[in-house]
Amino acid sequence: MQAIFLYYFCSMLQVKNLHFAYKNTPILKDISFTVNTGEHFSIIGESGSGKSTLIKLLYGTYDLNNGHIFWKNTEILGPKYNLVVGYEFMKYVSQEFDLMPFTSVSENIGAFLSNFFPEEKQARIKELLAVVELEPYANTKVKELSGGQKQRVAIARAIAKQPEIILLDEPFSHIDNFKKQSLRRSLFKYLKEKQITCIVATHDKDDVISFSDHMMVLNEAEIVANGTPKELYNHPKNELIASFFGEFNIINEQFVYANQLKVCSNSNFKAVVTKSYYKGYYFLIEALIGNNKVFFEHLNPIEMNTEVFLKIDKPA
Ligand code: ADP
Ligand code: MG
Repeated sequence: MQAIFLYYFCSMLQVKNLHFAYKNTPILKDISFTVNTGEHFSIIGESGSGKSTLIKLLYGTYDLNNGHIFWKNTEILGPKYNLVVGYEFMKYVSQEFDLMPFTSVSENIGAFLSNFFPEEKQARIKELLAVVELEPYANTKVKELSGGQKQRVAIARAIAKQPEIILLDEPFSHIDNFKKQSLRRSLFKYLKEKQITCIVATHDKDDVISFSDHMMVLNEAEIVANGTPKELYNHPKNELIASFFGEFNIINEQFVYANQLKVCSNSNFKAVVTKSYYKGYYFLIEALIGNNKVFFEHLNPIEMNTEVFLKIDKPA
């Protein structure tokens, strides 16, 4: 009884039996899930699986065909019931960030902050510039920024007035690899520290695996899995989920990642190497067991046509 009470008490975002279609084809069918306060929750799925649509529905952009969305005690309603889309407690960074191009980065970030306390406002803008690593661009006009820099301004602006919940749609998609790693760490750390509930739509496992408390997988309009990254990594239910985490094999009906298949001195799995791919600190080796292609990781390249024995080495 107590557990049930706590569950409802903590579940700040509740999505119940959501159905949605733009026209006739259902994009999302019978979607139900809950997200706790301060939680980092990822929505993953292939391109076209409905991630952006779901994020927009959580924001109240469209009317549902069926079902309900609640944030705490407030029902999130679409334009039919809500004149102005959006809520004070919720911020949304879309895949197309809409900024003011002719004003500076600082002004964009501070756009929703009060002018009553100019010193506090400037201090806050400085803090936000640091979170998104844009200090050198404080006075640059937004129209002069790259796509990735604009995306960072949009993120800073969304967290400026500390929302209770933030919806991020592919938040780092325009940001290059040089900046992505550190920005991702700094933003997700900031959101966790402030206990801002964070929903991230992404197809990048690096946005998820080290940061998400829970992840949900969408496929063909439905939820195919919902659990912790560790649960889904260790027990992928299907090929789609396994492939999200990396190169994998199906051996004896189990999913075996390339790093869980190792060369040994003798085994039942004799493979013939067909190619070695350089990966930095290791090589991804492509080989054949009979007619079946397998992938495994190895510290050194292996010459083509070499015969090797392989063993599965993974936690039970
Ligand atoms: P994802 O973000 O996972 O790539 P989307 O939510 O953008 O997926 O799209 C899901 C499906 O909905 C796709 O088939 C897409 O073509 C369709 N879709 C998206 N936006 C619209 C729209 N405004 N009108 C009609 N169909 C749309
Ligand atoms: Mg999308």
